[in-house]
Amino acid sequence: MSEKIKITSEKIKDIFIKIADVLIENKNYLTELDAAIGDADHGINMARGFTKVKEKIEPNGFKNNSDLVKTVAMTLISTVGGASGPLYGTAFLNISKVIPDSDFDIDSLINIGETVIEGIQRLGKAQQGEKTMLDTIIPVVNSLRESKGKGLSLERALEECKKAAEEGMKATIPLQATKGRASYLGERSKGHQDPGATSSYLIIKVIVDELISEME
Ligand code: ADP
Ligand code: MG
Repeated sequence: MSEKIKITSEKIKDIFIKIADVLIENKNYLTELDAAIGDADHGINMARGFTKVKEKIEPNGFKNNSDLVKTVAMTLISTVGGASGPLYGTAFLNISKVIPDSDFDIDSLINIGETVIEGIQRLGKAQQGEKTMLDTIIPVVNSLRESKGKGLSLERALEECKKAAEEGMKATIPLQATKGRASYLGERSKGHQDPGATSSYLIIKVIVDELISEME
């Protein structure tokens, strides 16, 4: 599987603007999810951060993909409050260090996923199954590795990892939170979908759909 997708920083900029629009559209939904098990601000946090991201990247040109993603990361770190700001900020900062400049293949996607998990775990110390954004992200990276092992086409691998993200997000519903603010609820955190796992799914869905559309 040596397929490659060519992605310029103009395209990456486009992807971030779409991510921003989706998170802004889902502001109330994410906030309602956080109202059930947190402090009702996840949608507000994400919408605030990504509104700023749009303002910062839309009018500007960037030297390369790394420069662009680093700007996104720094903007999120300085504008998104709560636990999710530093976690997403660190994830994107890590991505800026490994993102290829134009050709993406399955290995670059796995590499990006692994560095995202490393950053989030370094900061938040959560494992899969603790009802966090990692319950969406870890299955995505596992799915990409599995697809590589099976020799699936890049497009199939992308479709499969999107399904894994959705399943991971939904699998947070019965879980008891043991990290973050939702853990204060103990048993009462069960029965609700995790807000961070949901925003991660929304972000991953945009990225995957945009990468697939670049292949067609
Ligand atoms: P806060 O909890 O500070 O109000 P947000 O509401 O913006 O911040 O984000 C909450 C989300 O952050 C949770 O739904 C969860 O997915 C994620 N989260 C919280 N703590 C951790 C952690 N230690 N590791 C990974 N993700 C976490
Ligand atoms: Mg919150």
